[in-house]
Amino acid sequence: MASRLIYTTDKGLYCEAGDFYIDPWRPVERAIVTHAHSDHARWGSRHYLCAEQGEKVLRHRIGADAQIESVAYGKEITLKDTTVSFHPAGHILGSSQIRVEHRGEVWVVSGDYKLDPDPTCEPYEPVKCHTFITESTFGLPIYAWQRNEELFTDINAWWEKNKREGKASLLLAYALGKAQRLLKGVDTSIGPIYTHGAVESLNQVYLHSGVALPETNRLSSMPRGSKFAGALVLAPPSAYGTPWQRQLNPVSAAFASGWMRVRGIRRRRSLDKGFPVSDHCDWPSLLKAVNLTGAENILVTHGYSQILVRYLQEQGLNAGTLSTQFEGEEETSSRESETAAEGGPNVNSSVEESSVANSDTDEHFYANEVQE
Ligand SMILES: [Zn+2]
Ligand SMILES: [Zn+2]
Repeated sequence: MASRLIYTTDKGLYCEAGDFYIDPWRPVERAIVTHAHSDHARWGSRHYLCAEQGEKVLRHRIGADAQIESVAYGKEITLKDTTVSFHPAGHILGSSQIRVEHRGEVWVVSGDYKLDPDPTCEPYEPVKCHTFITESTFGLPIYAWQRNEELFTDINAWWEKNKREGKASLLLAYALGKAQRLLKGVDTSIGPIYTHGAVESLNQVYLHSGVALPETNRLSSMPRGSKFAGALVLAPPSAYGTPWQRQLNPVSAAFASGWMRVRGIRRRRSLDKGFPVSDHCDWPSLLKAVNLTGAENILVTHGYSQILVRYLQEQGLNAGTLSTQFEGEEETSSRESETAAEGGPNVNSSVEESSVANSDTDEHFYANEVQE
């Protein structure tokens, strides 16, 4: 590749011509944020820029006094010598691909994205470019997600079976994005739906952002001794096996994550059920997305980058890896325990809830475990 419009520095992906960073992992002057998952949206930068739809979620994650500006999808803005615009990434509410143009050269940083339909966010939009930066969290041919209809048929059947057996159904899912997508897709006629505080506070942000969701009740707001047989309970994965979970007994626990495609993980965590559903691209979607951009240069970040790079090279594309810190788990997990206690002044976390570390960053979470 002749020029490097965007490159990695010790603070994150940097565009010199526009003097901004994209999803920086250290505090910077100007941060463009693709979405509010904590491995992409970090505290401490002076100015943040995100898509309009994601502003409330970002504010919820990085604090009320952060200086956040937002811009409508597709609107072009000028930053120094570049033209920048945000385009839907289909990953979670407000998630964006960042298009950067400089002297006729176009780069797109896709952030996290998926092509599958998700009624809680704007659908992924293919953006033509010369250079496409893509993640590859699930960049292996074994990863191919089932269709939404099939997925929700399975989840509803599991919930109904538990109901017949007098059990509660504990559905573990990342609190930002995945939980709302599941909530929107399940058959609410089966029974009542309760939430862990970490999920409920984000449901509220989604509602305030204009995303309609079925009615839920925060579990901790229920009177002591309430029974949850027949109910669906949405909680972050970190709530699993904690004292908080005991109030649901008898309970069947399931984890909804792309990692459930790997059978060993479910077994090791002794979960009753796993639903392989992801807010990231599966292998066919990655290839399709790359193709839709028309890009001749592909830079692959975190995940199974080497395998995807080799495959794309075999297809005649100019592909390479781009190192990032998006899988920096240590930093992420310390941040996450802080966000567990978050929720704003209006949320009264119960003791049980706040003791649960909120590992809702994203599905990069399991990457290290799987690659072991
Ligand atoms: Zn994400
Ligand atoms: Zn991510």
